[in-house]
Amino acid sequence: MIIAVLAVQGAFIEHIQMLGQLGINTVELRNEADLAQPFDGLILPGGESTTMGKLLREQGMLIPLQERIRQGLPVFGTCAGMILLAKEITNEPRNFLATMDIRVLRNAYGRQLGSFHAVSAFGDMSDLPMTFIRAPYIEVVGPEVEVLSRVDGQIVAARQGNQLVTSFHPELTADMRVHEYFLGMIASNTAVA
Ligand code: GLN
Repeated sequence: MIIAVLAVQGAFIEHIQMLGQLGINTVELRNEADLAQPFDGLILPGGESTTMGKLLREQGMLIPLQERIRQGLPVFGTCAGMILLAKEITNEPRNFLATMDIRVLRNAYGRQLGSFHAVSAFGDMSDLPMTFIRAPYIEVVGPEVEVLSRVDGQIVAARQGNQLVTSFHPELTADMRVHEYFLGMIASNTAVA
């Protein structure tokens, strides 16, 4: 199994390191030519969604990746990566990959609570440590979206088919269960990507 990690900006190294600890090979996506390499899943890291979206577009990766996700390529977006996948962003005029039926609020926790830690359930898992950094949360989900986690009543993780998103950064904790969950999604993927 090979996982591609978008590596134009943001916290991609931490994802690559965590996948390495899990024995998974990765490829870094920086431009359109990188898309020719084989990969079975994609991680969109945290960072600055506007910058990452702009670079995706400028490097010719936005449309090809959008098509592959629509065809079933398993994808995991953390924080800014969640914003890239959202069909709608409440406080932004434009969207990016727009493949997931969620509406997100960018920088949802305001300045005072810019970064914080929480512990909550995630699907069947309990006591998952979560690190939030100027995070978005999900305000509205479509009918095909499964809510996986809430913190203080707000949706902070969700799944729609082969698309997984978290407001928080599992790659910044020692707990690898969310990455393992994503690997399970890839292992059971039957879509032709
Ligand atoms: N605030 C960033 C954005 O809106 C996301 C922060 C993050 O990915 N840690 O793009």
